Amino acid sequence: MPKLEISKVHDAYEDAGECPLCILHEAAEATYLRSFQHSRVMEPNVRVQTNETGFCPDHYGKLYRAENKLGLGLVVHTHLQQKIPQIRAALERIAEAGTGRRSRQSAAEAEATLASMRDRCFICDMLRTDGERYAFTILYLWSRDAEFPARFQASHGFCMGHFLQMLSAAPKLLRPDRAQRWIDEAVALQIKSFDSLERDLLAFTQLSRSENSSLGSEAERTALGRTLQKLAGGRFRLA
Ligand SMILES: [Zn+2]
Ligand SMILES: [Zn+2]
Repeated sequence: MPKLEISKVHDAYEDAGECPLCILHEAAEATYLRSFQHSRVMEPNVRVQTNETGFCPDHYGKLYRAENKLGLGLVVHTHLQQKIPQIRAALERIAEAGTGRRSRQSAAEAEATLASMRDRCFICDMLRTDGERYAFTILYLWSRDAEFPARFQASHGFCMGHFLQMLSAAPKLLRPDRAQRWIDEAVALQIKSFDSLERDLLAFTQLSRSENSSLGSEAERTALGRTLQKLAGGRFRLA
C-alpha cells in the first residue's frame, strides 16, 4: 500500500483550484529543485541514482536556471562519465547500420537507447512516486473519510492529464462497485467544470471589447489560465 499523504491532500483541496494534483505536483517539484540547490545534490545515495538516470530536458533547464552551477556541473560530469560508454556504443551502432534496410532494426534500437537516456530523470521518477501516493490518498479519503466526499463534490475535478491518471488508479485501488461510483462522480465533476470554464472563457473574451467597460468577475479574469490548466495541466499564471 503506498504511503498516505493526508494533510498535503487536504491542503491542496483547500486551495480550490482546477486540479489539486497540479498543486501537489508543483509543490513537490519546487521542494526537489530547492533541495538540489543545497546539500541533496551531493548525498552519495542520490549521486548513485543521478549518475544512472540524469535528468529530463525540462528538469535540466530548471536546474540550470537556478543558482548552484558548480553542484550541477559535478553531478552532470559523473553522470556523463558513467554513460559515455553506452552513448558511444549506441552512436557506433548507428554509424555501422548506416542507411541499409537490413540493418534498420539495429539502428532503431540504438536510437531508442539514446531517446530513453534523454528522457530518464531522477526528479520525474520521484514525482511519479509522489503522484501515485497523492492519487491513492484521494481515493482512500473518498472511500474512508466521512467528510471528504463533500469536499470532492465541491471541487472542480482534475486537469485532463491528472484525470486520466486517477481513472487508471481507481479500479486498481477501489472495489469494482466503488470504482464505478467514483468514476461516475468524477466524470460529472469534469463535465460541470468544462461547461463552466467555457462560459467563463466566453466572458473573458468579451472583457476586452471596447463597448464593454466591465472589469469582469475574478472567475472571468482568470478563465484563460484556468482553462489552459484544465487542458494542459500545470499552472498558468501571469508573470
Ligand atoms: Zn493536474
Ligand atoms: Zn524530469
